[in-house]
Amino acid sequence: SVYVDYASTTPFDKEIMEKVMAGADVFGNPSSIHRIGKDAKAKLQDHRTRIAESINAKPKEIIITSGATEANNLAIKGTAGRHEKPHMITTDIEHASVRTTYQNLSEQYDVTFLKASEDGLIDVEDLKDSLQSNTVLVSIMLVNNETGSIQPVYEIAKVLKDHQALFHIDAVQAFGHMEVDVEALRADMLTLSGHKIYGPKGIGMLYLREGTKLSAQITGGSHELSRRAGTENTMWVEALALAMEKADSDRARRSLKEMQLKERFLNELTAKEIPFEVNGDVNRQASHIVNLHFPWSEAEFLLTALDMTGIYVSAGSACNAGTVQPSHVIQAMYDDEERALKSIRFSFSHLMEEEDVLEIVSQLKAIYERLYGN
Ligand code: PMP
Repeated sequence: SVYVDYASTTPFDKEIMEKVMAGADVFGNPSSIHRIGKDAKAKLQDHRTRIAESINAKPKEIIITSGATEANNLAIKGTAGRHEKPHMITTDIEHASVRTTYQNLSEQYDVTFLKASEDGLIDVEDLKDSLQSNTVLVSIMLVNNETGSIQPVYEIAKVLKDHQALFHIDAVQAFGHMEVDVEALRADMLTLSGHKIYGPKGIGMLYLREGTKLSAQITGGSHELSRRAGTENTMWVEALALAMEKADSDRARRSLKEMQLKERFLNELTAKEIPFEVNGDVNRQASHIVNLHFPWSEAEFLLTALDMTGIYVSAGSACNAGTVQPSHVIQAMYDDEERALKSIRFSFSHLMEEEDVLEIVSQLKAIYERLYGN
């Protein structure tokens, strides 16, 4: 069987799991003032330092959360809630954790949703035109989770440089595949998730630039600099630190392998004469993701047929709980519901081999021939 859905989640690295388990006897509550607590606090501080180093931040700029969904909610609601009549800008291709949060806020506040074009990208000129004197926050993802499109975040940061608006970047699908440096990106806030980088599920973080004001969404004790209350999940913080370090140091090798697999996949589809089109601009996409339009079949049918042959892939975001809905990203790009219903996202990993890619194509070819003969 072949799992080719690494953008939805990755397996937890066994080496990291074992290392974390081996340290489980440092069990104290980092807030306790006795020795057992202090030992845990020192370890936690060490993990936080390493997490910060992986994105060129300071340890006190890292807020640990239960994942990127919570981190995105904190960034957006924690900023909106501080202003009387805020205007905020995002895009119509964001992950549900950003999009739904803004959709809900738009009932009360002024929110602009920038449109992506057929190349999958946001136009920086549109952003310039949308900025207002009361714009307090701009949320734009670095890599789109459905198409892999790399948004022009460096140009956007330049535009925002002389504006008060905070720049919030969802970098969940970028980290480990390209450089994520909060200084180079000029991010005020940036979110990451553990389970997309071979760490555990249920852990993530928000980078918050020193001096940036943000209202806590989970209140209680003074954990995470009073931005996120609750006893720290020290073992999973260690796992996140280890996963980030490993993804960072192995980045060149991993992304090269992903690119080779993707290229081989597309070449093989062409060689086997299976009709397809790449959604978006294939030259402006992350190494591990490609989204294909198969005009000859509904995605739902293809996914089920592939599942029966042991090929595990999705139509797009896994967040719509097991249902195949037309992808809002493909629809936003092409304004074409049929195309959105006939598109599939393949997401690769350095753990895959060339034979895996050949197996996917061979199964696709068999399905195509069953439908249309040869
Ligand atoms: N943002 C993006 C771009 C994602 O791909 C995901 C995961 N699907 C998330 C946010 C949410 O991350 P988590 O699962 O850690 O809540």
